[in-house]
Amino acid sequence: MRYDIRDQLSKRDGEVGLKVDAPAPRGTDVEFVGNVTGRITLRNVGAELMAWGRLNALARMPCGRCLAEHEVPIEFDFSEACGFAQIDEPLSYTQVTDESEPAPIPVLDGGVIDISELVRQLLVLHLPARSLCRPGCRGICPACGANLNETTCDCGREEIDPRLAPLRELLQ
Ligand SMILES: [Zn+2]
Ligand SMILES: [Zn+2]
Repeated sequence: MRYDIRDQLSKRDGEVGLKVDAPAPRGTDVEFVGNVTGRITLRNVGAELMAWGRLNALARMPCGRCLAEHEVPIEFDFSEACGFAQIDEPLSYTQVTDESEPAPIPVLDGGVIDISELVRQLLVLHLPARSLCRPGCRGICPACGANLNETTCDCGREEIDPRLAPLRELLQ
């Protein structure tokens, strides 16, 4: 996600608007379907950059109950303070471990900016911790592993109140 910004951000109050339409940066732990799209505005506010805008993405996540892969639309507005770093190797930024640090935005040769790490951190921040494949997913039987959305199993019947057991015998 590199952009040629010339010297638009070199002076205080310099601002640049970026149209985002690119595959999700690596290192988000989930797979994305299609491109991340949206807009990001960067503004030089002195010691740091302000970044704000809106991003859209489609994540593919396992269901929190039955593990079925499903697509989760993600759309959010954001406003972040970012570090401004001169660096020639943007890939070294893709493994930032301290998420409390401001997202570093590598600037290459003073004229090209790489917002991959900023976008990666924003996506990670806005991914739901848990997502269900459908409202009221029935999950997986902990005893036999059957997907209870697709089938039923007999495991639960063993937990019938013993006082009702004679009645159950009659019904079978
Ligand atoms: Zn599910
Ligand atoms: Zn079962």
